[in-house]
Parts: sequence; structure tokens; C-alpha cells
Amino acid sequence: MNLDKVFQNNEKWIKDKLAVNPNYFESLGEGQNPELLFIGCSDSRVTAEELMGLGPGDVFVHRNIANMVISIDLNVMSVVNYAVEHLKVNHVVVCGHYACGGVKAAMQSADLGILNPWLRNIRDVYRIHKKELNAIACDEEKYDRLVELNVQEQCVNLIKTAAVQKAYRERGLIVHGWVFDIHTGKLIDLKIDFDVILEKIREIYHLD
Ligand SMILES: [Zn+2]
Repeated sequence: MNLDKVFQNNEKWIKDKLAVNPNYFESLGEGQNPELLFIGCSDSRVTAEELMGLGPGDVFVHRNIANMVISIDLNVMSVVNYAVEHLKVNHVVVCGHYACGGVKAAMQSADLGILNPWLRNIRDVYRIHKKELNAIACDEEKYDRLVELNVQEQCVNLIKTAAVQKAYRERGLIVHGWVFDIHTGKLIDLKIDFDVILEKIREIYHLD
């Protein structure tokens, strides 16, 4: 890849934006008021704004390997806190994707060095849902289902945070679990019933 091209693309992008709205960058410079926090995978094929047809100013974005929400990860926790408490987003999305390399790596037993403790969190998702996953004979289907269950568990992790709990109570923040189907381009709402899931864990985590 020629990186000069990146700067040429940037010049073209500026021209295109100004052609539609001469005040585009002045408006951007005034601040942000996104409605949505998007937590997705770092995978180069899963571009947050582009696949939703949104642009600058629309979405607050956090991406990491396999779209994880880990309570001791200062990075994701800071993003969630800032987006929910300060930007006051009304929706938080955890978006996984089929063919996720992080999820695939967690299904195998290879030693991946520094990635091991990160992937262990996905292995924990496998352990929690072992019965369901082991009942799936087809490896591809099992892999897809683990992607979906990982989204579900990361949503639960999100709901357990103090910031989300408070926003749930005070202003009806909504958490969504989505999957991007990389083979078709389709964004799928998993329509996770958090009331049912949270009912089972409420006695342990003291959730609202
Ligand atoms: Zn991924």
C-alpha cells in the first residue's frame, strides 16, 4: 500500500465534504453529540461507521480484538464511562462478526503469547455455554454460534458496569447485541432478551 495515496484520498475527501456543505468542518469542530456507542472488533473488514452508513459525529467507537468488554480493561471501561456518563449516548451496541479471528483462536489451543490472557475471556464464554456449543456437530455452525454467544456475554459484562446500571435506571439506556455477517455484508440484530438472561444472574451480581 502506498501511504501517499492515503493523503491524496484525504484531500479528495475534504473536497467532497465541502462540496456538499461548505461549513462541514466548522460544524465538526464545534463538538460531538453521538447517539450511539459502538463496540466492535479491530478486524480490518469490520468498519464501524461505513457498514452502518454513518459518518463523523454519529458514533462513538471502541474496537478491540473480538469486541470484548472486560471489567479490568481500563481502555474499554473509560470509553464506556465517557460515552454513557458524559456524552449520554442512548444506545450501546456490542457488534461481533462471523469469521472472527479472535474467536477462532480461542477455539484452538495454540500458545499465542500476550494474546493468551485476552483470548482466555472468550474461552470463558465457551465454558459458560459448553453444553449448547458441544451439541453442535458442524464446526462452522459452532464457530458462528460462539461469535453470537460472545456478543451476548460482552453485553452482559456491559450491563454489569456501574455507568450502564445508572443510565438504565435514570434514562432508559438500551444495550444491543449485533453480528456483522462478513459473507453477505448484513448487520444482524441478535434481539437478545436481556431480561431473561439477567434474571438468572441477578442474585449474584445485584443488578437493577
Ligand atoms: Zn474479529
